[in-house]
Amino acid sequence: RQADIECRMLVLGSGPGGYTAAFRAADLGLDTVLVERYPSLGGVCLNVGCIPSKALLHAAAVIEEARGMAAHGVEFGAPKIDLAKLRAFKDAVVAKPTGGLAAMAKQRKVRVVQGTGAFVSPHELEVRGEDGTRLIRFEQAIIAAGSQALKLPGFPWDDPRVMDSTDALALAEIPKRLLVVGGGIIGLEMACVYDALGSEVTVVEMADQLMPGADADLVRPLAQRLGKRYGGVHLKTRVASVEAEKQGLKATFEGENAPPPQRFDRVLVAVGRAPNGRKIGADAAGVAVTERGFIPVDAQMRTNVPHIFAIGDIVGNPMLAHKATHEGKVAAEVAAGLKREFVARVIPSVAYTDPEVAWVGLTEREAREKGIAYGVGKFPWSASGRAVGIDRAEGFTKLLFDEATHRVIGAGIVGVHAGDLISELALAIEMGAEAADIGLTVHPHPTLSESVGMAAEVYEGTITDLY
Ligand code: FAD
Repeated sequence: RQADIECRMLVLGSGPGGYTAAFRAADLGLDTVLVERYPSLGGVCLNVGCIPSKALLHAAAVIEEARGMAAHGVEFGAPKIDLAKLRAFKDAVVAKPTGGLAAMAKQRKVRVVQGTGAFVSPHELEVRGEDGTRLIRFEQAIIAAGSQALKLPGFPWDDPRVMDSTDALALAEIPKRLLVVGGGIIGLEMACVYDALGSEVTVVEMADQLMPGADADLVRPLAQRLGKRYGGVHLKTRVASVEAEKQGLKATFEGENAPPPQRFDRVLVAVGRAPNGRKIGADAAGVAVTERGFIPVDAQMRTNVPHIFAIGDIVGNPMLAHKATHEGKVAAEVAAGLKREFVARVIPSVAYTDPEVAWVGLTEREAREKGIAYGVGKFPWSASGRAVGIDRAEGFTKLLFDEATHRVIGAGIVGVHAGDLISELALAIEMGAEAADIGLTVHPHPTLSESVGMAAEVYEGTITDLY
């Protein structure tokens, strides 16, 4: 069969991994085709993930700041929420970068083909679109088909009141009572949004702490804040059943801290994401896929088929946009003949909750499991004039150092803007910084970033009198 389109490089999926790879490949001179099933480029992150969620979290943060100031003599009154306008703000925030991507693709002469792609041979992809089926023949390919929300079985998914994260971001209404199933990053971010907008939120989480990947102490200030505000935060609890009734969704629970059965107006299921590896005809290309749907790759992002690469959520955890973009660059550069590898020592994780929780490198739990002798430098934000000045002194900055070398091996920050503060520590770990390097670096005063230098000084013993 004759191919409809021929190209040197095919990229399947236009998320942060895919568009980065396609643009880099084009910049390196490869004739590139980018296949995307949706009309808007940018994947989960730009359309229904990182970007819209942060737009709504911004609205939530403004509401909470205004509310917090009431106790200090500046009162704004209760917020009036115009849901249609808020939705339009979020949509406009999404439209800007996604529209920008289309222009950037054009500029680079990356041909964008809209439709759902599936491999039919090691060098061919069939794309089914609205305007029919096209066969693309390629020399090399990068698979960047991402992941999608796990739909727990047993939930009445045909009822629109049962939502995944995409539905929750659509902001159809502000439910009076919202049940969030899953106390991970995505569930808690959406919980913060709906709480600020006025919902009574209940969270259930199977593990014994929220955000099970982070150290327990790091999550505590967030858990304490949520515990005070929410209808309930139930750990070691699972949802046993959800029944759609006219008056609401009736949920029953199991576990040590299970609350009694109760009705909610909406239920958000945020229990993780599943890679799309089994949905792209990988077999026909000879590309190996694990049972869970991940595509194994080497450090150069190559699959078992040497001319086919894979990047982003589809190759494994952590499922984060910044991992996908860095992998995308590596794959494109290797495909173009450059000597590259993905050798990041660390990939930071951030929950943009209120307060934010961010960590990078080893957690204390991981350091203990690896048998590493480590020391901790911890700086409580109650000792930070800036944190006190913005009435958010509940946070802290914690650095982990290898006792043998005094090199920083991990860090955790909880507090407002923790996500922005953690980057310094990603750089410090990548560069092998020692406690003295961080402690002797002059940080501007009064900033929250000072807490990073102070935590290193606490470890060094050059600050002792914390109040
Ligand atoms: P994706 O973004 O999943 O893109 C894959 C693309 O491939 C999609 O556009 C899809 O339509 C397309 N595709 C799939 N199969 C086919 C096919 N057969 N044919 C054609 N096209 C196909 N990460 C962060 O780092 N920070 C955050 O703050 C953050 N917030 C998030 C909030 C939410 C609510 C969610 C759901 C996720 C969030 N993430 C965040 C995760 C982040 O979105 C992902 O890690 C990132 O999008 C992965 O990029 P990717 O390129 O691997 O794939």
